[in-house]
Amino acid sequence: EKKIRKIRDHVNEYPDFPKPGVLFRDVFSVFQNAELVAMLREVLIAFATQIQPPVECVVGIDARGFLLAPFIALELEVPFVPVRKKGKLPGKVASVSYALEYGEANMEIQESSIKEGQRVLIVDDLLATGGSLGAACTLVKKLGGVVEACLVLMELSELKGRLNVPTNVISIIKY
Ligand code: IMP
Repeated sequence: EKKIRKIRDHVNEYPDFPKPGVLFRDVFSVFQNAELVAMLREVLIAFATQIQPPVECVVGIDARGFLLAPFIALELEVPFVPVRKKGKLPGKVASVSYALEYGEANMEIQESSIKEGQRVLIVDDLLATGGSLGAACTLVKKLGGVVEACLVLMELSELKGRLNVPTNVISIIKY
């Protein structure tokens, strides 16, 4: 609808970043305008509250998932939990390695952050190959959580990344 179009219009695009051939879509440009941030929050909440049964925890992915997931967690009055790149989280962590275009990366979650059987929503800014969301799903499952859905603001549809995510993926803006 109108709000989604407005948000889309304010996502800046940067050709050849971080490397040649990649068109980088920057959600930070939306955060320069408080009115747009309020719209973004409303839209995220509208999508998240449609998920049934309601989720009991919202996981955000390092780093731009951290901008979005807390809006939803606050509204639903449930915990926000970070999934971070290796070596950033203190205490006992569960780890997973996942494939990048070249090489691999590791993501971690704090062991105590999710309870057995807890229904979880995973949030990020953008779905490309699905490697990040797939890894986050693996981490939540390792701790006994149940991934109800993943929610992203943007999806690069032609990459078919949702095929690498073993759960329902909701995307608000499709490219
Ligand atoms: P994937 O793991 O290949 O799906 O890539 C998604 C991850 O890379 C997300 O955490 C995004 O924040 C980041 N990412 C990839 N491409 C872009 C982009 O164009 N804009 C912003 N983030 C991106």
